[in-house]
Amino acid sequence: MQKNILFCLLFFSCFAAHTQLAQGPKLVVGIVVDQMRWDYLYRYNRYADNGGFKRMMKNGFSCENTYITYAPTVTAPGHASIYTGTVPAIHGIVGNLWIDRLTNHEIYCTDDKTVKTVGSTTNAGLMSPANMLATSICDELRLATNFKSKVIGISLKDRGSILPAGHSANAAYWYDPAAGNWITSSYYMNQLPKWVEDYNAKKLVNKFYEQGWNTLYPINTYLQSTEDAKPYEARALGANVFPYVLKQYIDKDFGKISTTPHGNTFTADFAKAAITNEKLGEDNITDFLAVSFSSTDYIGHSYGPNSIEEEDNFLRLDKELGEFFDFLDAKIGKGQYVAFLSADHGVLQAPEFLKENKIPSSRFNLQTFSNLNRSLKDQFGKDSLVLDMANYQVVLNKPLIESSRLNIAEIKKVIINQLSVLPGIARVFDLENIMQVPLNSLVREMLVNGYYPNRCGDIQIIFQPQWIEGYSRSGTTHGLWNPYDAHIPLLWYGWGIKPGSSSREVSIVDIAPTLAALLKIQKPSGSVGKVIGEIVP
Ligand code: ZN
Ligand code: ZN
Repeated sequence: MQKNILFCLLFFSCFAAHTQLAQGPKLVVGIVVDQMRWDYLYRYNRYADNGGFKRMMKNGFSCENTYITYAPTVTAPGHASIYTGTVPAIHGIVGNLWIDRLTNHEIYCTDDKTVKTVGSTTNAGLMSPANMLATSICDELRLATNFKSKVIGISLKDRGSILPAGHSANAAYWYDPAAGNWITSSYYMNQLPKWVEDYNAKKLVNKFYEQGWNTLYPINTYLQSTEDAKPYEARALGANVFPYVLKQYIDKDFGKISTTPHGNTFTADFAKAAITNEKLGEDNITDFLAVSFSSTDYIGHSYGPNSIEEEDNFLRLDKELGEFFDFLDAKIGKGQYVAFLSADHGVLQAPEFLKENKIPSSRFNLQTFSNLNRSLKDQFGKDSLVLDMANYQVVLNKPLIESSRLNIAEIKKVIINQLSVLPGIARVFDLENIMQVPLNSLVREMLVNGYYPNRCGDIQIIFQPQWIEGYSRSGTTHGLWNPYDAHIPLLWYGWGIKPGSSSREVSIVDIAPTLAALLKIQKPSGSVGKVIGEIVP
């Protein structure tokens, strides 16, 4: 009998010790910085010691060579791939938009006509993760804890919030610029929580507009940028020079905040409110907050990486992240949460900036496919044989080609011949032949990883390096295979993370499996990534 009691005591103490070991962080904070090139960790080299980036690099772990391993390198595939640990060929988010080849209709990545907007009267909430075919790491956390873990996604952009949070999230919130509100959809709930309604009622956007936007430090100390006024900078805020006056947008245009650093402050502030009001990280069951900062992308597109605007934006984001970590330290406890930071893609410098400095670069307007349709009509007698140019691919109007009994191979040949001689185009080929086309193996692999047939086009276009898709004459963009678009930061910090760094090449799809290993939960359903051994030995 006594032996039995001893055995029981031993058993329970072992069990207790075991559960203590297996106990995870109280909160996982996933941070995506929209359009952050890896080199921004070093190029904007005035980050504060108590800011976000240095704190993560000094006390956490940096995977210095993290690459996106598919194309196109744009926002929706980036967020989906980080959180599902897989590529568009498997999770199906092949672009921000695509043509559904079964219906011939354009689909936005998070479109869902079966749900309703919650939080405003516009259509900005007809969204859900329905088009994402795999689970996110957040789904796996929910499954692992019998849905006791709380999962919330937050971003100004719908796709930056919805795709990371996954299918079984408690909530995803995004910004409706027409209403100036944080909203969601009936996919998650039928009414906003009281705290979100109260938050929206404060109309903080107007308060941010009152502050305007001036540089954080004296403008003559911004040594990593060109002079302020450059003709190729977009006039997204009316002017293209500091200081930006924003008062004229009060109660008139709630969308302008996205193209100012206030958009990131607004996002961080709302994230803190979510942590407090939803009690994230308060009990011993791991919760997950997926937050994405979008203003970096809006500002980057308008001004480019070599502008004072973008440099200031990152110095301010660093400060924002520092304050966010201070908040988490106080609220959740130092070492009680784990955070990772990465990006959905990088960006190219503005083409005119490169040209000024003797580096060849230009813009190619993919949307001028009307020329293509005109010459196809001359040869085949039908108009609109090209339906769209989406994600660097020519999308043929297959139903029309079939009903007109036209030879699709001949149509493709005409298009390829016509496009291949245009300046800036490096390659044009029939996607069905991708395994036969002589192509660098890295580029081929990235394109194959981005190919989901029912959502992709027929003919692939690859630009020469430094060429961008651009219908406007200002700003810049991202989207193809090149390192400036594909090399992203990956920082880990907090619970279970030993300080250090590694130069070993890892992929964007390795983030979710590494989190799975760290949290001792299953990999997402479509994951093809590998655990980063330096993080979870
Ligand atoms: Zn993006
Ligand atoms: Zn972008």
